[in-house]
Amino acid sequence: AARDPQQPEFMQAVQEVMLSLWPFVEKHPHYAEHALLERLVEPERVIQFRICWTDDQGRAQVNRGFRIQHSSAIGPFKGGMRFHPSVNLSILKFLAFEQTLKNSLTTLPMGGGKGGSDFDPKGKSDAEVMRFCQALMIELYRHLGPDTDVPAGDIGVGAREVGFMAGMMKKLSNSTASVFTGKGLTFGGSLIRPEATGYGTVYFAEEMLKRVGKSFDGMRVSVSGSGNVAQYAIEKAMALGARVITVSDSNGTVVDEAGFNHEKLVALMHIKNDLRGRLDTYARQFGLQYEAGKRPWHVPVDVALPCATQNELELSDAQTLIKNGVLAVAEGANMPATLDAAKAFIAARVLYAPGKASNAGGVAVSGLEMAQNSARLSWTREEVDTRLHAIMRDIHENCVRHGHSEREYVNYLDGANIAGFVKVADAMRQQGLY
Ligand code: NDP
Repeated sequence: AARDPQQPEFMQAVQEVMLSLWPFVEKHPHYAEHALLERLVEPERVIQFRICWTDDQGRAQVNRGFRIQHSSAIGPFKGGMRFHPSVNLSILKFLAFEQTLKNSLTTLPMGGGKGGSDFDPKGKSDAEVMRFCQALMIELYRHLGPDTDVPAGDIGVGAREVGFMAGMMKKLSNSTASVFTGKGLTFGGSLIRPEATGYGTVYFAEEMLKRVGKSFDGMRVSVSGSGNVAQYAIEKAMALGARVITVSDSNGTVVDEAGFNHEKLVALMHIKNDLRGRLDTYARQFGLQYEAGKRPWHVPVDVALPCATQNELELSDAQTLIKNGVLAVAEGANMPATLDAAKAFIAARVLYAPGKASNAGGVAVSGLEMAQNSARLSWTREEVDTRLHAIMRDIHENCVRHGHSEREYVNYLDGANIAGFVKVADAMRQQGLY
């Protein structure tokens, strides 16, 4: 903390992981040798740069760009780019640290990284977004490569932005090597990549429920967010028979007691993805209750799927969910629950899956996209989905192995942290000090 006094999100993520790791490391002290823990929390490289671009009025604009190359212990740096006004070093360092453990859990050979900019895509024209992405790549391209660092999307970075960045990367490097994942299907993208994080989160929650003899069928489910992860979590939960009652954005929450159906989901996707519109428009279209400024957690549900952003579910929200009898919480977003909220779920024996386990499906399919690009092949939807499902089951198993505590209750937080750590730590030990 003395080294990074102004990085609260990074401190929070490190603290959460260390609380899980400490008892494990005490039992296995070789994991504390050679400053291994100190090395694990220090990014291998942090790049910060200026991005200058011109808006539609011809005015010069300046933003800040970052890439955190956190760990290459088990493969090339890998992790998304986030465009949001809140982006800063602390948030990206927390995300890159979490990504390192998450990528380890996927079983695929990927290190951890994250990047982004404080650029706000909201309200910008396509031409402005394109000029911004190209300006960003003028610096970032020199730090990327298929065996060095492979970015992808995240908040504010979807297919449009990845396309603009990948296009500029090709131009600057004179190479079509795969240095972004989440690409369009016409230039090397993988089927199921857009769906992967949301589907994977629901597959993971399904495994947790199955282990205690339950299923999604007939369950009341709340989802927060209405972006990429939220949309496909809703689709898969519905397909498994759940009633999805909420959806939200940064302005408010829609509560829909009748639950989502196919028609509503198609309309939501159209409003959010094609029109880049807001949720109050969606609520008006279907005559649904819209709660301005509210989050979804006061609505009684069996399963909660936070899919928006970090620290969107606080201790009081966790207490409300617990009082209302929530059975399971699976994080589609990264660190949506605060540390206090996570501890409250575990103390109340709620099945609680941290994002690094439950949302790893996105980066897993990114790993599969890299494999397809290297082989110059495209797999079918079924093939990718089957592999995604198998990976999520394996991650669940691995969490159970390391997170099994007393009376059959699985502490998935400990399980994910320890399972992710062991592989990275072994790889670091075997490669020596560098
Ligand atoms: P999108 O940009 O598609 O959607 C983000 C959603 O979260 C939007 O509904 C947005 O609302 C809401 N949101 C963003 N910031 C805030 C905020 N400060 N307060 C309240 N709501 C907010 O992003 P994704 O769906 O891709 O990402 C969502 C989460 O999932 C992030 O935590 C991301 O890191 C994580 N994740 C994403 C993966 C992926 O494959 N995309 C992989 C693994 C994790 P609004 O529309 O108002 O901005």
